[in-house]
Amino acid sequence: MEVRRQIEVSGIVQGVGFRPYVYRLATGRHLRGTIRNTSAGVTIEIQGPAETVQDFVEHLPAEAPPLARITNVAVHDVPCLAVQSNGVQEFCIVHSREGEEVRTLISPDVAICPDCLREMFDPNDRRYRYPFINCTNCGPRFTIIRDIPYDRPSTSMAVFSMCPACLAEYENPLDRRFHAQPNACWKCGPRVELWDKSGKRIECRDSIAEAVSGLDTGLVVAVKGLGGFHLAVDATNPAAVALLRQRKRRVEKPFAVMVPDVQAAQEICELDAAAAKVLQSIQRPIVLLPKKLPLGAGAGLSIIAEAVAPFNRYLGIFLPYTPLHYLLLAEGGFKALVMTSGNLSEEPIAIDNREAVHRLNGLADYFLVHNRDILLRCDDSVVRVAGGIPRQLRRSRGFVPVPVFLKDDQPSVLAVGGELKNTICLTKGKHAFLSQHVGDLENVESYSFFHEAIEHLERILEIKPEIIAYDLHPNYFSTKWARQQSGTKLVGVQHHHAHIASCMAENHLEGRVIGFALDGTGYGTDGNIWGGEVLIAGYEDFERAAHFEYVPLPGGEAAIREPWRMAVSYLAHHFGREFLGLSIPFVRQLDPAKTELLLRMVERKVNSPLTSSCGRLFDAVAALVGIRQEVNYEAQAAIELEMTITPSEEETAYPLKLLAKGHQWIIGTRPLFEALLNDLSQNLPVAAISRRFHNGLVEGFVQLATLLRDKTELHRVCLSGGTFHNFYLSQRLEAQLSEAGFEVFTQKEVPSGDGGLSLGQALVAAAKLRA
Ligand SMILES: [Zn+2]
Ligand SMILES: [Zn+2]
Repeated sequence: MEVRRQIEVSGIVQGVGFRPYVYRLATGRHLRGTIRNTSAGVTIEIQGPAETVQDFVEHLPAEAPPLARITNVAVHDVPCLAVQSNGVQEFCIVHSREGEEVRTLISPDVAICPDCLREMFDPNDRRYRYPFINCTNCGPRFTIIRDIPYDRPSTSMAVFSMCPACLAEYENPLDRRFHAQPNACWKCGPRVELWDKSGKRIECRDSIAEAVSGLDTGLVVAVKGLGGFHLAVDATNPAAVALLRQRKRRVEKPFAVMVPDVQAAQEICELDAAAAKVLQSIQRPIVLLPKKLPLGAGAGLSIIAEAVAPFNRYLGIFLPYTPLHYLLLAEGGFKALVMTSGNLSEEPIAIDNREAVHRLNGLADYFLVHNRDILLRCDDSVVRVAGGIPRQLRRSRGFVPVPVFLKDDQPSVLAVGGELKNTICLTKGKHAFLSQHVGDLENVESYSFFHEAIEHLERILEIKPEIIAYDLHPNYFSTKWARQQSGTKLVGVQHHHAHIASCMAENHLEGRVIGFALDGTGYGTDGNIWGGEVLIAGYEDFERAAHFEYVPLPGGEAAIREPWRMAVSYLAHHFGREFLGLSIPFVRQLDPAKTELLLRMVERKVNSPLTSSCGRLFDAVAALVGIRQEVNYEAQAAIELEMTITPSEEETAYPLKLLAKGHQWIIGTRPLFEALLNDLSQNLPVAAISRRFHNGLVEGFVQLATLLRDKTELHRVCLSGGTFHNFYLSQRLEAQLSEAGFEVFTQKEVPSGDGGLSLGQALVAAAKLRA
């Protein structure tokens, strides 16, 4: 029996080779019908024997092209059409009546696909060793778009006209380069050049081979990638890594390492099946993986220079994703290349050739450039895999601008994020579009990138925000910018409320939850610096149910850079000046003059704002146990404190004291410090102290969650904030809360750190205006 069905497919199904795919799926089964683009996605009509049509419907989502992301498939029966009635007997692609393509969602930049890779290394292929080979399933998208609709004239490929061979592929619905906008070849496409450090073109037969010999001799080569420049050195050459550190003025923050394949990753890191899958995914994020520990003398020692990621048990590893990366690695036979963002310190990544030569002046010896412009900078994404699930630490290239899919329709909101690790977020309907990683808004370059990101996203997504959401901190650049905007409603959102809302949003939660928002810094509604907060929260509002007891932050920002100040602050807070008589190395090594100055500052309440920050508590403990008195990058002390924990069965936990104060619980830390000082005076190893500290926090938090459940009858707990980038803490807390009968929600799609803040701000602002 013949049937005809109408299938509406929503999601990212345009500009990703979906129509040719459906065409092949239908014609392969001798089915008749049509496919056309609509504002929600595509609509397919399919007619043929009932069984075959059913088979088609079942295969449709399962074998979709790699860039497609199907969010919904709706199937309806429609009356059969007589074979000849519309003159169509076969399956055909219908172009929209107005002659315009309706493009809804834009796909991100993704890694070169296996088909293109095979062609590139095939000496008989016309694109043999061509560094810009791509097809409908792979290559650049987001970073080459100037405007919508996503067609070649609106991209940075507009300046290259396709040769007849490329054009034929582009126009053939059965070709895997059908409508591949960046399609190009040796004859008609972009080219690579090698420049010296002053930006002068180096005349040579083969730019890539020349760049490889530079890397071989320990030089720093700036390489133009998908979303910006990388600075590359041979990761197995300690002198080259040291040179890069010194030039980049980056003291100890880990560098990411690109390795040729999964096998190479396996040689230097512990890699399970889930992590291997993420490593090879089309997004090709940097994946944090545990370094292989040396197994006895000589065996298992890493080939990677120690200076790549000092004092860190993890290494950020990624696989090549552009054809150029593959050529570089294959040509040089490199086992690993450091590939770090082409920038100085915390500035945005450089994208333009001339800009790179100017801004990376003195950093790179060579520039491997090309003439396909990057229109929008986009850093590498960073994920970690926990419990088999990839979790975003920095959501950028490969993921942006794929939206976070929301439960309910939202008004158009622009949320401008926080100050550090900034992202912005735009909402439209059920979609929340987070920008790429904008970074720390602390310099002029970052400010202009912030403007660029907003302007570009608004344009390509066609969103005119009605509401602007911002953080309450009066001195954040993003806050000041938001408050200057006119013509839209402005809504301030408390930092930790936004964290919890972000977690709720990606988990499609409604109503109220118990939210643990733990991080370094967030402006509180009482003007103090919050950071160890337990909220009873919904989208529209929150109640501060508990927080760490306040301690002074002596010297404000300086206390963040110098953890020893926090240790002194905590000791003075709990024990007064008596702590100076303690016989522990930390106290013995204090500079008496500096300490005296600090104590007076605290006692006279000068430049010592109060904080309940969880990050600062980690800093204090890290300083006390002698890990680090000063830091070179954000959260360094906390990260290194976590890294000292070795596997053990020991369950000892330092106690916290929960004190009722009005409607709130104050999380008291005095017993914790008493136990810790006792262990220190007994010379207990740092690994054990760190574990007992972490275990103590977990135990205290579970106890607190239980008290709040008794009071509120809420059993859903959301965990968010930068502190949850701590693997040990988050996994242990999640496990113990689940064991205690809580339903625990964490962040996966967006970072739990400040990179995910904008999503929560958007939903809170929308809810506040609805209420
Ligand atoms: Zn391809
Ligand atoms: Zn061509």
